[in-house]
Amino acid sequence: MDHFLYRNGSLHAEDVPLSEIAASVGTPFYCYSSATLTRHYRLFKDALDPLPNMVCFAIKSLSNVAVLKLLGDLGAGMDVVSAGEYLRARAAGVPGDRIVFSGVGKTREEMRIALEGGIRQFNIESEPEMRALSEVATALGATAPITIRVNPDVDARTHEKIATGKSENKFGIPIARAREVYAEAARLPGLRIVGIDVHIGSQLVELEPFEQAYKKVAALTETLRADGHTISRLDLGGGLGIPYTRSNEAPPLPVEYGALIKRTLGHLGCEIEIEPGRLISGNSGVLVSKVIYVKNGEGRDFLILDAAMNDLVRPAMYSAHHDIIAVTEPGPAAPTQAFDVVGPVCETGDTFAKARELPLVVEGDLVAFRSAGAYGAVMANEYNSRPLVPEVLVRDDHFAVIRPRPSYDDMIKRDIVPDWL
Ligand SMILES: *Cc1c(COP(=O)(O)O)cnc(C)c1O
Repeated sequence: MDHFLYRNGSLHAEDVPLSEIAASVGTPFYCYSSATLTRHYRLFKDALDPLPNMVCFAIKSLSNVAVLKLLGDLGAGMDVVSAGEYLRARAAGVPGDRIVFSGVGKTREEMRIALEGGIRQFNIESEPEMRALSEVATALGATAPITIRVNPDVDARTHEKIATGKSENKFGIPIARAREVYAEAARLPGLRIVGIDVHIGSQLVELEPFEQAYKKVAALTETLRADGHTISRLDLGGGLGIPYTRSNEAPPLPVEYGALIKRTLGHLGCEIEIEPGRLISGNSGVLVSKVIYVKNGEGRDFLILDAAMNDLVRPAMYSAHHDIIAVTEPGPAAPTQAFDVVGPVCETGDTFAKARELPLVVEGDLVAFRSAGAYGAVMANEYNSRPLVPEVLVRDDHFAVIRPRPSYDDMIKRDIVPDWL
């Protein structure tokens, strides 16, 4: 469920008509619903209670500081994969002891920033990384809390670019080598083992791969404890999928996911950490765009929008589907037409949908891409010198621009012409 609904014939974000935001901000823009973000966070929280737990929002899915503050104020932890994300979380007022640091290539500089600023734990992904952290922490006279990310070799059955839990993926250490690597971690100075980490992929639409992975983590917990390690936290990653179409998809609900966690790991007495991104942010956001032209071609008609692949890259990058709807509600018997929906960027890849049945729209009409909150704005760029897409946050009947659109001047002024030219 989300809070983007038609009211009085017009698509609203909560109590605000999207057409009103478009008139004030211009198009394209991302719009997020506070109520939906809050609701999705609470679904996870409720699903894990009363187990000791921390729901750490995966910042990489949507990293605007205003969104992080909203979730942080609800008590959410944060999962970061770079020093930039770490500093965003801190800027949003999230204390270091609620931030976990994931990612396969943390640099020494990033480790230092997090150690000095305060961190709940580092999720270690390799032995060289573990040794580097030991050195950095020792040099600072600090102790770094760590989990080690194990790769359980399960098939997440999702898009190949976002599957991470097979042995051929670059993530984590093979679970078969876990004992050896934990033994080395225990010997290294400056490190304190606190638990185990696993994350098998994104947009998972069934629970079975999670179940396989979590059973392996449960067994590993017992083994590592028998070896004398303290395993008090289990970080289970993110990855629960969302429905991208209204019709036929029904991925598992957070409550079912929570029940699975309790069933497979609840007996171990560990604090459970999860790192959901997409399920919190995905359906909390839409991308609103205007029709520039309707172009009739040979056997196909094109809807040319003012949003492009630089604003929302998922269709071009992952062949992802986004529902596209008209902001003005079509009548129940309104005719539809098949359109290829495209942006203005000079690449054939700049295609959002092919032969999509849409209500008849004309130049100047607004459309909304649903489910665009996750991996939307964060992947946007200025390709074709299109100024970075702005972001808006709605709460009840008011909205705020939480990242403005740069002016052409702002965009161009960032380049520096050397004085020898
Ligand atoms: C991407 C990622 C997540 C979030 O995945 P979602 O599918 O958005 O829930 C969580 N943890 C790690 C380590 C990740 O790489």
